[in-house]
Order: sequence, then C-alpha cells, then structure tokens
Amino acid sequence: MNTSVFYTDEELEFQKETRTFLQENIPQFVEPALRGDYSAMRKALKQLAKKGLLGAIHQKKYGGTEKGIVAECIISEECGKIDASVNMTRAVSTIFFGMPLSVFGTESQKEKYLPKITSGDWIGAICMTEDEAGSDLSSMQTKIIREGDEYIINGHKKYIANGTKADILAVFGILEHLEEKDPRKKITGFLVESKTKGFKVAEEYELMGIQGACCGRLEFEDLRIPVENLLGKEGQGFPILMSELNVERVVMAASCVGNAQTALDIALKYSNERVQFGLPISRQQAVNFRIADSALKVHASRLLTLEAAKYLDQRDMEQATLAASMAFANASEMHIEVSNACVQTLAGKAITHRYDIPAAMWRAGPVMWVVGGTTDIQKFIVQRQLYKSLKSKKD
Ligand SMILES: Cc1cc2nc3c(=O)[nH]c(=O)nc-3n(C[C@H](O)[C@H](O)[C@H](O)COP(=O)(O)OP(=O)(O)OC[C@H]3O[C@@H](n4cnc5c(N)ncnc54)[C@H](O)[C@@H]3O)c2cc1C
Repeated sequence: MNTSVFYTDEELEFQKETRTFLQENIPQFVEPALRGDYSAMRKALKQLAKKGLLGAIHQKKYGGTEKGIVAECIISEECGKIDASVNMTRAVSTIFFGMPLSVFGTESQKEKYLPKITSGDWIGAICMTEDEAGSDLSSMQTKIIREGDEYIINGHKKYIANGTKADILAVFGILEHLEEKDPRKKITGFLVESKTKGFKVAEEYELMGIQGACCGRLEFEDLRIPVENLLGKEGQGFPILMSELNVERVVMAASCVGNAQTALDIALKYSNERVQFGLPISRQQAVNFRIADSALKVHASRLLTLEAAKYLDQRDMEQATLAASMAFANASEMHIEVSNACVQTLAGKAITHRYDIPAAMWRAGPVMWVVGGTTDIQKFIVQRQLYKSLKSKKD
C-alpha cells in the first residue's frame, strides 16, 4: 500500500531496497575513508555500482538503470543518511561528471567512458572553479587553443571534488579562437584523462568536512587532447554547466536531507534516553522544540527537493531552475541548522567523538553551503527567476 502522497509505489519500493542495501553495504567503509584511506572510498563506489547506484540517470547500454532524477535523489538521500563524503564522491562521479557526458557527449565518448563510471572502475570530476572564477564562472582564465587535430589546454582549476584521484575529468575553459564579446560564449568543455601529459595535481586540500572525499587544485600545462574529446560543441560550455548545475543542486539538496534526517533520528532517540534532573531531556521544551523544528525543516526540504527532481524528470527547465535553487538554498541552510541542533542535543557526546556520525554530519554542513554555487547564489537565482516571470507576465 502507498504510504506517501508524494512518491509512487515503485519509488517507495526503490527507496526501501536502496536503504536496505546501503545500510548493509556501506557503513564499514565510512570511518576508514574519513581517516584518509581512499581505498575504502573506492571499495564503497564498487559496492554502489553493484546495485546500479552509480547509474540512475544513465542509459542501460552504458551500465545505467535509466530510472531518472527522482530515483537519483532517493539514492542521494539514502546515501547521504550514511555519510556525506561517500555520497559526494558518488554524486560527483556519476552526476557532476556523468550528466554532461550523458547528455552532451558523442556516442563514442559515452561508449568509451560511461561504463567505466557506472561500474565504479573509474572516478570522474568536473572542473569549473578557478582563482578568479568562483561564483562568477564567466571570469575563467584557463586557455584553450586548437592546433590541427588537437586542443591544447593551459591553466588551473581549484576546489575540484574528486579531482586529485579522478581518472577522467570534464574541464572547461576559454576557447581562444572564438570571436565572441561575451566570455561565456567562449567557454568550452573537454574530456581529459588524468594520465595525459601536462596534467598535474598541484595541491590536495584538507577539508573541514566530508574528509573522506578528496578535493584539490589542478594545473594544466600544454595538455594536448584529441578533437574527439570536445564535449558538446565549441562555445557550448556555459549552457552545459548551467544544466549540470541544476541537477547537481537537486542531488546535493537530497544529500542534505539525508544527512539531516540521520542527525534528527539520533537526536530524537538520544533525547528520549538521556536523563538529567530526573527526567529524559526530551521533556524539556528547549530540547523537544528543537526536535520539532528540525523535523519540520527536514520534511519541508525533502518536499522542495522532490518537486525540483520532478521538474527535471519532466524536462521543464524554466521551473527546474527555480525549483533546484529553492531546494538547495533551503536544504543547505536546513542542513546546518539541523546538524547544529543534533550536536546541541547530544552535547559532550557529539563533541568528543570526531569520527562519529553527529560530528561528521555537522562538519559537512558548511560544505553544502558552498558546493554547486553558494547559498547566496541560489537565492540570487531564485529572485532573478521571480522577477523574470513578473516581466514576462507584463509583456
Ligand atoms: C568541498 C568543495 C567541493 C567543490 N567541488 C567543486 C567541483 O567539483 N568543481 C568545481 O568546479 N568547483 C567546485 N567547488 C567550488 C565551488 O563551486 C565554489 O567554491 C563556489 O562556487 C564559490 O566560489 P568561491 O569559493 O570562489 O566564493 P566567491 O565566489 O568568492 O564568494 C565569496 C562570497 O561572496 C558571495 N557572493 C559572490 N557573488 C555573489 C553574488 N552575485 N550575490 C551574492 N553573493 C555573492 C558568496 O556567496 C560568498 O559568500 C567546490 C568547493 C568546495 C568547498
């Protein structure tokens, strides 16, 4: 029987199966990964691949399941419930890298690279951010020139999740020969194998949260790639990035919901068991209102995320852009508030156990405020879309 007015029976069944599989097969990799053992992360990815959890948006002929974005959000929430860094590594490979390839790649690019991603054999990454190009991607400086049958890339990228361990990366830069005044129309994407001469990992960051994931600064010096590795068309990089970011934001919003749900579950249980002043602390309104506030924030966030996922599945890009930024702005703030409430409720127990779930969830909060565009940028997009709709109504 359907116990949700929002999910179909099939989605509920998939959610149940995914949850059971993840809870049985992933937790053992989390602590070693958080302590810096990246082989544990690779093993976790291989487990995810066994159940098709690296392939929800990809075609079956490339090892995907073709289930779509709602299913991907179910995976992201359930995986986020277990650990944000495992889910980040998973999502960056299959979605941030995999989505542009799946949608804009040629058949031979997809044949060559997608099965490696959906099987967890290879790890993917996407490279947009640079020293001068954070929120403002039009300020990218990485230069690309064409010489015969090759493109040559010179420049750098920073804060690249999965970047230091990735086997394949989607790299975006300015294609010099395009005669366009608007720099966004010169942005072009390429598929770059990390073993290519001229590719260098310049720095591996020590992250404040999601420490099981890796993130780094990359440099490209006279890196030559064949013309077949052009992603989409010359000058199509900016729209590719914008469509990828819509999906990335919804998938990360779902991860925030999963993280926060776990924090809430832990705080709910603990507050009911912990006795102080002769009573469970759940009897104190300061505590139980924190639980109530957290529960309604998590649930509201889940519904916003589901709405955005449905617009994406329906390919309604106008609605999806607004809904994705609304969902992620809300989820990233909710994640910080709910994980904070959990740490406050567990008090000393949360603070003294660095690798336990509440501390890991709490440290992941600020990360979610930054990836996929900061929460400010999500709000910028929300207001822009709202004023745009006002203008089109007037016209
Ligand atoms: C863990 C992690 C993983 C990441 N993974 C990737 C990745 O895989 N690939 C990739 O390319 N990048 C990645 N990033 C980079 C991320 O997308 C950028 O950090 C983010 O877009 C913000 O850029 P910035 O840090 O340069 O901040 P800035 O753009 O310098 O922003 C600084 C402050 O100014 C505010 N601000 C800037 N412009 C505006 C505006 N117009 N309106 C309102 N406020 C504004 C911001 O909200 C922020 O508060 C990652 C970052 C982190 C931390």
